[in-house]
Amino acid sequence: VQVGKNQEELLQKDEKYVWHSMKPYTPHATMVVQEAKGAWITDQEGNRFLDGMAGLWCVNVGYGREELAEAAYEQLKKLAYFPLTQSHTPAIQLAEKLNQMLGDDYVIFFSNSGSEANEAAFKIARQYHQQKGDTHRYKFISRYRGYHGNSMGALSATGQAQRKYKYEPLAPGFIHVSPPDSYRATDAPNCPPSELHAVKEIDRTMTWELSETIAGVIMEPIITGGGILMPPDGYMKAVKEVCEKHGALLIVDEVICGFGRTGEPFGFMNYGVKPDIITMAKGITSAYLPLSATAVRREIYEAFKGTNEYDYLRHVNTFGGSPAACALALKNIEIMEQEQLFKRSKELGAYLLGELQHLLKDHSHVGDIRGKGLLIGIELVQDKQTKEPIDVQYVNKIIAECKKEGLIIGKNGATVAGYNNVLTLSPPLTIEEADIDFMIKTLTNALAYVK
Ligand code: PMP
Repeated sequence: VQVGKNQEELLQKDEKYVWHSMKPYTPHATMVVQEAKGAWITDQEGNRFLDGMAGLWCVNVGYGREELAEAAYEQLKKLAYFPLTQSHTPAIQLAEKLNQMLGDDYVIFFSNSGSEANEAAFKIARQYHQQKGDTHRYKFISRYRGYHGNSMGALSATGQAQRKYKYEPLAPGFIHVSPPDSYRATDAPNCPPSELHAVKEIDRTMTWELSETIAGVIMEPIITGGGILMPPDGYMKAVKEVCEKHGALLIVDEVICGFGRTGEPFGFMNYGVKPDIITMAKGITSAYLPLSATAVRREIYEAFKGTNEYDYLRHVNTFGGSPAACALALKNIEIMEQEQLFKRSKELGAYLLGELQHLLKDHSHVGDIRGKGLLIGIELVQDKQTKEPIDVQYVNKIIAECKKEGLIIGKNGATVAGYNNVLTLSPPLTIEEADIDFMIKTLTNALAYVK
């Protein structure tokens, strides 16, 4: 990997003028990306890297798709902007398409980011309960280690203390419970889902907080940023039953899991539940333009149809559902369907997972390899028996070694209590088979080489 003069100068300016979040923790802020195609990115010096991390940004159809640029360009020429206080064709067509993908029972509210989609979900849930006469239902339950966004409400729902504690006080009414985690769970084998510790904790929390104060639960199908934590069998369905028992809504955050990442159009579809509210963001445009959506069960939407103006949804969003972003999203979904990317994610993901499990099973620091579709986590531990997380320096060395060989991978977990130990693989869903093999070879070599 060459740094070169060109890139060096840009990096100096970058250092001076651009405020990066997470710096100096981000291991990749040492290059200036110039262009990208498919699963490969190129920096200023012409160094190429396979972006095995693109999935966390949801570049699901890969980089450099000219059809997407054209869809946005054509729409910008025709109608660059109009607010959704009135309507326009791309928004109508996209809402219809999303509704069809979700099973034909949802109404769509558009915003621009995952955080905003979750904020809208919280407001809609609270107002819905209010309008039904349940005037005290304002609390939300979410899981430790989950991430739901950077704005005050979405951050309040986030269960990662290290992201929050300097910004407190946050919004009241957000309560955290233990995340499900198949690797570290202490449930008996074949435990019925309703008896799982992580499910009983939600049930108990709702009872102790008083059911009539709980507006809903928000969860990702698989906790992504918090370490690719897989739920035990039956978990999500059991949580939905608990929600129904207590009169709370189930909000599913599909910001990363949606649009094929886990091998289904949406992550919840792996688990046989019908959420009340579904939030989605970057994958909707493969991250080419900002757009997000909050899909709300029609029955909930109906509660907002009163004639009193105070019954309307009083949450507006200037850029949400902009014509160009919606036109691009429609093209993005068309590509996913034409190229059968959901199926591809499932099949290539199963291959990648199987190979890694086979090749790394005897590695002394590989505690667990897990995932669904092209979303895979490798949990590194000091000791396989005790499952003590490995030091982050070791994780960083593996990431650096992969980068030296042209592969970018990520690190997830939670920086508190040392849990920053999960390598993350999530390439574009269009990745070539040969590039999957390159990922496997590079990563297994790095794990063999780094001490
Ligand atoms: N929810 C989840 C699960 C996320 O991973 C993210 C961001 N990665 C968000 C919400 C927030 O999305 P945004 O950065 O677009 O606000």
